Amino acid sequence: MEKIYNTIIIGSGPAGLTAALYAGRAEIEPLVIAGLQPGGQLTITTDVENFPGFPEGIQGPELVANMTKQAERFGAKIAYENVAGVDFSQKPFKVKTDGNEYQAKSVIIATGAEVKWLGLENETRLRGKGVTACATCDGFFFKDLDIVVIGGGDSAMEEALFLTKFGKSVTIVHRRDEFKASKIMLKRAQDHPKISFITDVTVVDILGEDSFSGIRIKDNKTGEERDVAAKGYFVAIGHTPASKVFQEAGIEVDAKGYVIPKEFTQTNIEGVFVAGDVHDHRYRQAITAAGEGCKAALDVEKYLTEKAQE
Ligand code: NDP
Repeated sequence: MEKIYNTIIIGSGPAGLTAALYAGRAEIEPLVIAGLQPGGQLTITTDVENFPGFPEGIQGPELVANMTKQAERFGAKIAYENVAGVDFSQKPFKVKTDGNEYQAKSVIIATGAEVKWLGLENETRLRGKGVTACATCDGFFFKDLDIVVIGGGDSAMEEALFLTKFGKSVTIVHRRDEFKASKIMLKRAQDHPKISFITDVTVVDILGEDSFSGIRIKDNKTGEERDVAAKGYFVAIGHTPASKVFQEAGIEVDAKGYVIPKEFTQTNIEGVFVAGDVHDHRYRQAITAAGEGCKAALDVEKYLTEKAQE
């Protein structure tokens, strides 16, 4: 008979790997399905200076490698596969990957969220070379430099306000005259002496050879193009939670696709738990995701114990 895992953890960012560590230490022998981008968003970050325990900072990929090793040391198995579909309609649950089908008594969804990028070719090429998506992670590297922030929502305002601590100037570049951002956040940004706005424009290119040097924008009304010089580029046009396959399996999500936990980390389906950015659009930090992974594993342990006593 095919093995039935106690728990399958889907996702291998800080939430998934911390869940794996705790589940491993609880002798649950978890299976982690690592996904297409093992390690998640941390793997596209360079220096992580805000994860406690590393006074000199640590490289994102190294942090992921350490977390993986630590989880494996306590018996977690890692499958470098991508989840294609899940069946939560009966127990044991089924998790299908591109090449296999696994069964489990419980599942932790820790698939994270992806940063939305503008999708320009040079934006990808210059990523990590002045082009980034996380002010909390990278703001520090732009001391006394000019910065552009792309977006018109609360994230853009928040990133811009945070970046004023470091940058010489922060320019918010938005595609419309109206803002999605809440009035209070917008006003805070408008009132800040270091922040200015360029609105009703489309970013048509990202400039720079070896490192980012500015953006080319097109005025949406006149069609006129011009360049704006800057050293730091922060995109803040939203995130997309990786929840599609779970929605299809009946997991409750909000209007933007974020999984809604029902009680503690448990979702609307008994035995299915959630941790990290796939449900958290507010904090989105490696450390908060790790904390949630820990909580989900503890909830799984309790759930399995209770089920075994039934
Ligand atoms: P939002 O979806 O609210 O805003 C995204 C912004 O990016 C919009 O202004 C949108 O423009 C723009 N945008 C989207 N796609 C593109 C594109 N392809 N090209 C150019 N511009 C684009 O996302 P946020 O991440 O800002 O916020 C997500 C949620 O998190 C919100 O509910 C927000 O309130 C919340 N949040 C709260 C904070 C707080 O309270 N402190 C801080 C951060 C987020 P357009 O307006 O034209 O659609």
